[in-house]
Amino acid sequence: MRLCILLAVVAFVGLSLGEEKKEKDKKLGTVIGIDLGTTYSCVGVYKNGRVQIIANDQGNRITPSYVAFTADGERLIGDAAKNQLTTNPENTVFHAKRLIGREWSDTNVQHDIKFFPFKVVEKNWKPHISVNTSQGAEVFAPEEISAMVLGKMKETAEAYLAKKVTHAVVTVPAYFNDAQRQATKDAGVIAGLQVLRIINEPTAAAIAYGLNKKEGEKNVLVFDLGGGTFDVSLLNIDNGVFEVVATNGDTHLGGEDFDQRVIDHFIKLYKKKKGKDIRKNNRAVQKLRREVEKAKRALSGSHQVRIEIESFFQGDDFSETLTRAKFEELNLDLFRSTLKPMQKVLEDADMNKKDLDEIVLVGGSTRIPKVQQLVMEFFGDKDPSRGINPDEAVAFGAAVHAGVLSGEQNNDVIVLLDVNPLTMGVETVGGVMTKLIPRNTVIPTKKSKLFTTTIDNQNKATVQVYEGERPMTKDNHFLGKFDLTGIPPATRGIPQIEVSFKIDANGILQVSAKDKGTGNKKKIITNDQNRLTPADIDRMIRDAEKFAEEDKKLKERVDSRNELESYAYSLKNQIGDKDKLGSKLSDEEKTMLKSAIDEFIKWLEQNPDADTEEYKKQKKDLEAIVQPVIAKLYQGACGAPPPEGADGDKLKDEL
Ligand code: AMP
Repeated sequence: MRLCILLAVVAFVGLSLGEEKKEKDKKLGTVIGIDLGTTYSCVGVYKNGRVQIIANDQGNRITPSYVAFTADGERLIGDAAKNQLTTNPENTVFHAKRLIGREWSDTNVQHDIKFFPFKVVEKNWKPHISVNTSQGAEVFAPEEISAMVLGKMKETAEAYLAKKVTHAVVTVPAYFNDAQRQATKDAGVIAGLQVLRIINEPTAAAIAYGLNKKEGEKNVLVFDLGGGTFDVSLLNIDNGVFEVVATNGDTHLGGEDFDQRVIDHFIKLYKKKKGKDIRKNNRAVQKLRREVEKAKRALSGSHQVRIEIESFFQGDDFSETLTRAKFEELNLDLFRSTLKPMQKVLEDADMNKKDLDEIVLVGGSTRIPKVQQLVMEFFGDKDPSRGINPDEAVAFGAAVHAGVLSGEQNNDVIVLLDVNPLTMGVETVGGVMTKLIPRNTVIPTKKSKLFTTTIDNQNKATVQVYEGERPMTKDNHFLGKFDLTGIPPATRGIPQIEVSFKIDANGILQVSAKDKGTGNKKKIITNDQNRLTPADIDRMIRDAEKFAEEDKKLKERVDSRNELESYAYSLKNQIGDKDKLGSKLSDEEKTMLKSAIDEFIKWLEQNPDADTEEYKKQKKDLEAIVQPVIAKLYQGACGAPPPEGADGDKLKDEL
């Protein structure tokens, strides 16, 4: 048995390192790291043993993620596009990252498009951008706009390296889903870049500071305040393995809002002093916007700046002073609003401030002294990591990882090795594949999920580990199993069993289960010697697409059965529990409900293969019996209180 496990581990490491070697052998050339931001993007490369952030043709190390189409047929990208925003608003596209990989019906899309000066239309259920080009009206997918920005970053790198670049590592927010990540990859393909890895922005920032190389376990809070968005992420880094434990933030807070506050202030002041309203004059507002952003940046270093704009409005010049104190007063409520999401991630992660080992500030707006002060006050004695420009930290980390992939950076610890080719998960009741680590997650990685028992007094939970894309485990590849024993007697649904998957830098999967009640723990290394070949993996992915419809139906059937079962059992438990419904119902009511529920449980046992509709109908019938009784208790509230434990995934019982 020991030998067997050892062989398995070696086989898996062989596969992972083999894959990596293959990638290097393909002669990727120099791989670049790109932070594709909502408002600004940044590109870096690992060269001669260090990261170089590359300046664009304007000499700027960050490039606005803006694309514009001008009346004389020019397409502008970056600084040039942003600089003419106010005079050509309908044809200047920005914030494509807010649309990429989303559906038209997405509430975020519907909210955001109200505020864009350019037109967004629906095409194939997805948002598309409609602009006037020299060829007439043209419609672009968000991927195409992002591709133009990526293309600009690629050109910037090529000009610096004096050679063609074909491969990149691109970062995305930790909360991006599969569709958003895939769409970002597609944007790369359109730009002529193969995106070798998509990595999370906070992970990249932590890599930039080398936090993955530190020994032992660390909790890192990444505070990212950029031009248009604010993201807080709490990472757990355990000997190089990353887990995003919690995320929070405000998708509509950043430097552009701070600029807007100052612009509004000066527009008001100008009106008061000169009696003239410049608001409708795009050219004047544009000039003011540009100078205000410059002034804001300068105020991060000095206490006072002068803003001078020649022939600002109707032949008059603009000349005003802005102090740091006034800037802070105008924005203090916005700065303070960053504190709540920080509190929230700590709560969601079930942690205190003192549990944090490192704080990393990311995003250009964290250069603002008041923002830094608020963060430091919030954390008391803890100083944030410093040394890397905050608006470059994400691209810096992406460049480090790009260096590993291209073989440029091979002198020390492997940073991020590979992606897991198939989804990994455990079997839950009804043979359902419950995912823990989705396919294509960059490893090392770590993920936990809570499960519970399926029958009363269950003293053992069997953890069965699978890999594959199909919703039922019978169609996936079995990796191994183990039992967590010694669970104290309890009603079904009460014990909390935390199952954790950890894939380390060598690609070894370790699965552990812990009974949160007793602290009892068991773990295994699940890789068996029959690791799948790349051909098997391809086949499984193709099968998942082929059988998607059938699988969906089967999963619905199992889910509807589980729902009815959960509902029946948790009601039964609550009726029997004097701390819950037990004390509130009369004896007759209890007897009536118990016998009704037992009937349904019996029906379930006799009908293991009923169809979705039948299970749903049975649930409705049971609700029709239960709800009037419960509704009486809850004075007009309709429906029973949610049965406890009904929404937990249940590990398959093997007693
Ligand atoms: P990012 O998206 O991280 O590149 O951040 C861009 C935002 O940071 C923009 O709103 C910039 O105006 C802002 N920013 C850049 N440098 C500074 C600075 N020195 N002080 C204040 N804000 C800055």
